[in-house]
Amino acid sequence: MKSLDHLTFDNRFAALGDTYSTEVLPDPIADPRLVVASASAMALLDLDPAQAELPVFAELFSGHKLWAEAEPRAMIYSGHQFGSYNPRLGDGRGLLLGEVLNDAGEHWDLHLKGAGQTPYSRMGDGRAVLRSSIREFLGSEALHALGIPSSRALCVIGSSTPVWRETQESAAMLLRLAQSHVRFGHFEYFYYTRQPEQQRVLIDHVLQQHYPECVSAEQPYLAMFRSIVERNAELIARWQAYGFCHGVMNTDNMSILGITFDFGPYAFLDDFDANFICNHSDDRGRYSYANQVPIAHWNLSALAQALTTVIDVEALKAALELFLPLYQAHYLDLMRRRLGLTSAEDNDLALVEQLLQCMQSGGVDYTLFFRRLGEQPLPDALQVVRNDFIDLAGFDAWATDYLARCEREPGNAEGRRERMHAVNPLYVLRNYLAQKAIEAAEAGDYSEVRRLHQVLSTPFDEQEGMQAYAERPPEWGKHLEISCSS
Ligand code: AMP
Ligand code: MG
Repeated sequence: MKSLDHLTFDNRFAALGDTYSTEVLPDPIADPRLVVASASAMALLDLDPAQAELPVFAELFSGHKLWAEAEPRAMIYSGHQFGSYNPRLGDGRGLLLGEVLNDAGEHWDLHLKGAGQTPYSRMGDGRAVLRSSIREFLGSEALHALGIPSSRALCVIGSSTPVWRETQESAAMLLRLAQSHVRFGHFEYFYYTRQPEQQRVLIDHVLQQHYPECVSAEQPYLAMFRSIVERNAELIARWQAYGFCHGVMNTDNMSILGITFDFGPYAFLDDFDANFICNHSDDRGRYSYANQVPIAHWNLSALAQALTTVIDVEALKAALELFLPLYQAHYLDLMRRRLGLTSAEDNDLALVEQLLQCMQSGGVDYTLFFRRLGEQPLPDALQVVRNDFIDLAGFDAWATDYLARCEREPGNAEGRRERMHAVNPLYVLRNYLAQKAIEAAEAGDYSEVRRLHQVLSTPFDEQEGMQAYAERPPEWGKHLEISCSS
């Protein structure tokens, strides 16, 4: 374990120079106080969780103090937002403080979100509100606990600094960790500004630092692009299997590492609805739950376009064609597990689709359905979940097929409950749970944010006294309007 002042920095991105980022110092927020910290994220930096309570911790992650070896910089990128190209985005309110080299030899970017204005702030104030900082903290840590690749969150620091959104709110900072903060939009920026040499330096940087296994391939850039396609296929399969809706899949919010990145008005499905739109500003549902699959492919195409400078167009097209079959294979694999199936049959995808179709008629909580289905004995579990369906005839037809399918499983039902509970969470970050924790935090009580974070850090294990977190949401909690304003 290390103390906070003994972190080792190795700032490889900053070393690329001013073409890629701009030096900016954090602008501190007043009266910094710890809202919540993640012990498992602290462990990535070899930090003892007790250090979160030290005053210096809140000072470092609120812009009041800085390590001598840190080199805070705002990154330059552009990207496609809701399908239209925006030529100039960049870190408008976040700074890459530096890269920490941990004892395991991993580099972790320290990114301070809400650190004040930068040359890329446009009309924005450079701040993040407490509400959105807590949402990103809880969302990224909850996804990680579910086994879904994501950026991590070290802590949220609150303040008395006022900021204006629809009403007056208070500023906060979130310390985000990721092995890279390079987005699809970084490559688009250099492509659309016609700077091929500068773009190639960035491509080589990402290849060497983040895709070292591709360096010795016959065509290293193509091998890297294929890996990016593969990672995104797997990521989106996990989102879909667990009902996670990102909400703002703009190419500037897509990580080059294939991890969940930049949390805005995201949500987990409560009742299953393939057409669910979590982003209140997304009128046409471009980023609806079901659209996440074709949109991920669209985003990869936008990245491919930017990489035509170094990779043959036909090879890029062929790599893009890998996305859908890879996605389908991962998704089916996950859904088989969620249904407790250990073998594969040709009709399994049809069985999954038949189930979702009956769920679509309404009333079925997506998370609790799978959890309850895992109870023993199976016929009783089916009776319990049946109660929630509106399409009872549809459900009965499915249940007959599913029972028959389970009987064809090799081995017996032994271990079924354990196996299913290990992949079907009892607790997910429902919007209304986040909302209640946020309201308490806004009133100065951080205990609920901390408790919720704690519960979500082991989502598959039933936790004593936490039954309230495993309930279906109340009616008001299903229709919260979450906008981009953060
Ligand atoms: P986001 O919606 O957080 O992905 O942000 C999209 C773009 O707007 C990025 O370039 C952000 O840096 C910028 N941005 C968002 N909010 C602010 C803000 N309050 N001040 C300055 N820039 C912002
Ligand atoms: Mg963003």
